[in-house]
Amino acid sequence: MSRTVYLNGDYLPEEEAKVSVFDRGFLMADGVYEVTSVLDGKLIDFDGHAKRLQRSLDELDMASPITMEDLLEVHRELVRVNEVVDGGVYLQITRGAPADRDFAFPDPAETPSTIVLFTQSKPGVADSPASRNGIKVISIEDQRWGRRDIKTVQLLYPSMGKMMAKKAGCDDAWMVEDGHVTEGTSNNAYIVKGNKIITRQLSNDILHGITRAAVLRMAKEAQMQVEERLFTIEEAQDADEAFITSATTFVQPVVEIDGAQIGDGTPGMIAKRLREIYLDESRKAGI
Ligand code: PMP
Repeated sequence: MSRTVYLNGDYLPEEEAKVSVFDRGFLMADGVYEVTSVLDGKLIDFDGHAKRLQRSLDELDMASPITMEDLLEVHRELVRVNEVVDGGVYLQITRGAPADRDFAFPDPAETPSTIVLFTQSKPGVADSPASRNGIKVISIEDQRWGRRDIKTVQLLYPSMGKMMAKKAGCDDAWMVEDGHVTEGTSNNAYIVKGNKIITRQLSNDILHGITRAAVLRMAKEAQMQVEERLFTIEEAQDADEAFITSATTFVQPVVEIDGAQIGDGTPGMIAKRLREIYLDESRKAGI
């Protein structure tokens, strides 16, 4: 069945939604995005995603074509008309389509930003085999640009990382810079040592995950210890547990890193507990 998508103010069948070949998202990856998860037909942490979107736009001096209130309405309408129960809403804003290709930013008064939203249905996403069995990751060098805190659509290196993982018979890759893990290709990375949850501190080197913020807050509320600091692959391989977080995977256990089994090779207790708490609280707070 054809989805209804949103493009620059219109709700359209997906086949009819067309973007210009001069769009800077297409020519220059000059765009930002967000993915908001949907569980039981409700949006998870919409506020967090809307705030980070605004920050990404501000950092790139890009005009928003929509107010945050209207944005919520568009999300809700797309979930409703496409009858999404579990899945997510993808949103992308680019610096629009100027008359010609040029490195300089166009005048926003003459070139409005392009906005696109579409839904992705993933029935039963909260009970995936990967969440039950855990995933295997490889480590790769982090070759991305230096502003990973901005959620841009430049996803070529993360895509290459996923392919490297796939080729190695694994599920994902953790990226390493100056000897320390930055994050997963599309998620934040954590280890657990002696009941302490360890994850890299926020900076321009990683995306400030919305799920990360929620999970760390819930961990502290549940009296778990959290330490935000650098860690190496060797330390991760020697940890009691490892896991990732993202809006699409929630909390997902990692059971192998570069061929080394983590703990007893099955999902750890803390990761499992955090996943339960996160899903439970998110479902309650969904809008
Ligand atoms: N890091 C990177 C590089 C990502 O692409 C993502 C997901 N888009 C995350 C972390 C997790 O962020 P969130 O929890 O907001 O989905």
